[in-house]
Amino acid sequence: MGLMSEEHELVRRAAREFAESRVEAVAKSMDMDQYPRDLIREAGRQGILAPTVPPEHGGPGYDLRAGVVVLEELSRASGSFGLLVEALGVLFAHTLNRFGAGDQMKALEEVARGDAVGAFALSEPCCGSDAAALETRAERRGGEWRVSGHKMWITNGQHADYFLVFARTGAEGAGGGGEGRRTVTAFLLRRGKCIETSPIDLMGVRGIGDAEVFLNDCAAGDEDVVGGVNSGWSVMNYALYVGRTAVSAVALGLAARAVEESVRWARERRAFGRALIDHQAAQFKLASMYQRLETMRTLVYYSAYLYDSRDPYFLVMTHAAKLYSGPTAVEIARDAVQMHGGYGYSRESAVERIYRDVKVMEIGEGTNEVQQMVLFKLLTGGRLRFEF
Ligand SMILES: Cc1cc2nc3c(=O)[nH]c(=O)nc-3n(C[C@H](O)[C@H](O)[C@H](O)COP(=O)(O)OP(=O)(O)OC[C@H]3O[C@@H](n4cnc5c(N)ncnc54)[C@H](O)[C@@H]3O)c2cc1C
Repeated sequence: MGLMSEEHELVRRAAREFAESRVEAVAKSMDMDQYPRDLIREAGRQGILAPTVPPEHGGPGYDLRAGVVVLEELSRASGSFGLLVEALGVLFAHTLNRFGAGDQMKALEEVARGDAVGAFALSEPCCGSDAAALETRAERRGGEWRVSGHKMWITNGQHADYFLVFARTGAEGAGGGGEGRRTVTAFLLRRGKCIETSPIDLMGVRGIGDAEVFLNDCAAGDEDVVGGVNSGWSVMNYALYVGRTAVSAVALGLAARAVEESVRWARERRAFGRALIDHQAAQFKLASMYQRLETMRTLVYYSAYLYDSRDPYFLVMTHAAKLYSGPTAVEIARDAVQMHGGYGYSRESAVERIYRDVKVMEIGEGTNEVQQMVLFKLLTGGRLRFEF
């Protein structure tokens, strides 16, 4: 395929081998809520935990296309593991690589190598979509920052050693934009006594260590500020704009597996005297799933290609890819369950888990509606920029 090179295919082969031999083995235990700490370390050793982080900071230095291929392959084996790696390797590590400095790069290296876990802590009970209204505060006291607040839904949060936390460092805005955006700062906080976490019981993508995070007067120095005081909004947007392409690759991997499982099942299952796959209605359903899957794949790879080419059109395409991939992966998973009949509704089948896992693709890293809001702004000339 023109968008991808021989090198990307080599990365795919290695990632698939790791996924089939190692990730498949934890897919069920993750679904039973076990966090795969050892496998994270192993993925770090393999150099696929933080795919885009350069070698001097502990990663393999892949481009984003290779990064999405890794995420696709991991998610094909387990949506939970794929999402966990996306949050750690892209939202946390890729962002810290872009904005971090000094000792922050030591933390990045630990995380990229799998020796420590990093989490991206933006969402709060008050506000996920309306991130500009966040309420976590960082106040200046005695020559240092004191950070207090309550974060929600944080992937890897239960086990994280480092948190990239977004906090208010000035007057609150009205939310939804304007002033609120100008008083947000990103901090890199190391886990300590001031941080408490509480697990969240999820419908799907279980085992990702999703948690509420309570920050109780955490001390931070100026050296813990990431990207500059009151520049957190740019740090956050950078993370989420890249993350939207990356998380679409998780949706892609889940949908690809759903299609494969459906073809396999349709060959095996017999109905009305012949294999399901010999019924034209089943063939048409499979063809339609495949067409949607490949359209999704093209959007995701193209978006990553635009990022790699430093093309500003990336901003449109990353949102288009996310807005298409989330709902389409959900539709494909629903068709897969349908094709499996009763078996598709049982905890035995892979597609049952995929159906639960995939729903979050319409919610996390910006809901469908948030993607629409951004695309509408871009369409009507709103002032949105991406600084590569
Ligand atoms: C499994 C999982 C993992 C997550 N991991 C992380 C993580 O690692 N780090 C992190 O910071 N966050 C994380 N999140 C949080 C996620 O990003 C938020 O849940 C998401 O952004 C939506 O925010 P919310 O839940 O507050 O919903 P709300 O913002 O309250 O939205 C509720 C509904 O209202 C809609 N809505 C909101 N505003 C508008 C509007 N103006 N017009 C029309 N409709 C609107 C939304 O689209 C949605 O359908 C995770 C969430 C989940 C479920």
